[in-house]
Amino acid sequence: CGIVGYIGNNSAKEVLLNGLERLEYRGYDSAGIYLLNQDGQFGQLYKEQGRIAALNDKVNAAETTNMGIGHTRWATHGVPSVSNAHPHQSASGRFTLVHNGVIENYQELKADYLADVDLQSETDTEVVVNVIEHFAQTENLDGKEAFKKALAVVEGSYAFALIDNQTPDRLYAAKNKSPLLIGHGEDFNTIVSDAMASIDITNQYIEIHDGEMVTLTNDEVVIENRDGQEISRDPYTAALDA
Ligand code: GLU
Repeated sequence: CGIVGYIGNNSAKEVLLNGLERLEYRGYDSAGIYLLNQDGQFGQLYKEQGRIAALNDKVNAAETTNMGIGHTRWATHGVPSVSNAHPHQSASGRFTLVHNGVIENYQELKADYLADVDLQSETDTEVVVNVIEHFAQTENLDGKEAFKKALAVVEGSYAFALIDNQTPDRLYAAKNKSPLLIGHGEDFNTIVSDAMASIDITNQYIEIHDGEMVTLTNDEVVIENRDGQEISRDPYTAALDA
């Protein structure tokens, strides 16, 4: 339903909590946040059913990090519950994913690639994050290549934001038929399903088109199309009331 991700010089958790609150108007049944620090060692995962307010205390008490992803869920696959709430993690804990949309071939993906994986939720999303890990492990790919390979076999609608614990200096994202934008600031970038989520920290947004994949660092935005060609696209000024 709603996505917000942050990477930059400031603390991520305030931006993520604030962003999720700004997306509340769209409705949701559960919410969650994953925070990773710069050495990639201590990922902190928080999920709650019901109001975002329930997340606040826990996330406020979390260790400060410079990057993270958050999600408000509107259940399509599996009941509203803590285990079905996003972010979802791969079996080893290496990859963490938030997702808006519906993966149409998740049953086939599960049968084709995840026969040995013990899934923890009923969601289509958890299948995708494990398919990414499958490609990373079986084909010895780095996280970005594994994500790309997974995108080539995933069918349906999605906006994804992905963290690979092995690259704690970048965030990955991709979209197809679900909204996703990059918010660009002085020394940070955000990835949001709606400019509203980070409008209080930047009004500069870059559109992402279907089939594109994005790599974000504190100060860089690299957009690639399905053929792996880099796309350059200027930000526009979003006219929303902060
Ligand atoms: N299909 C996913 C799920 O049911 C994502 C739902 C959403 O867009 O919030 O968990």
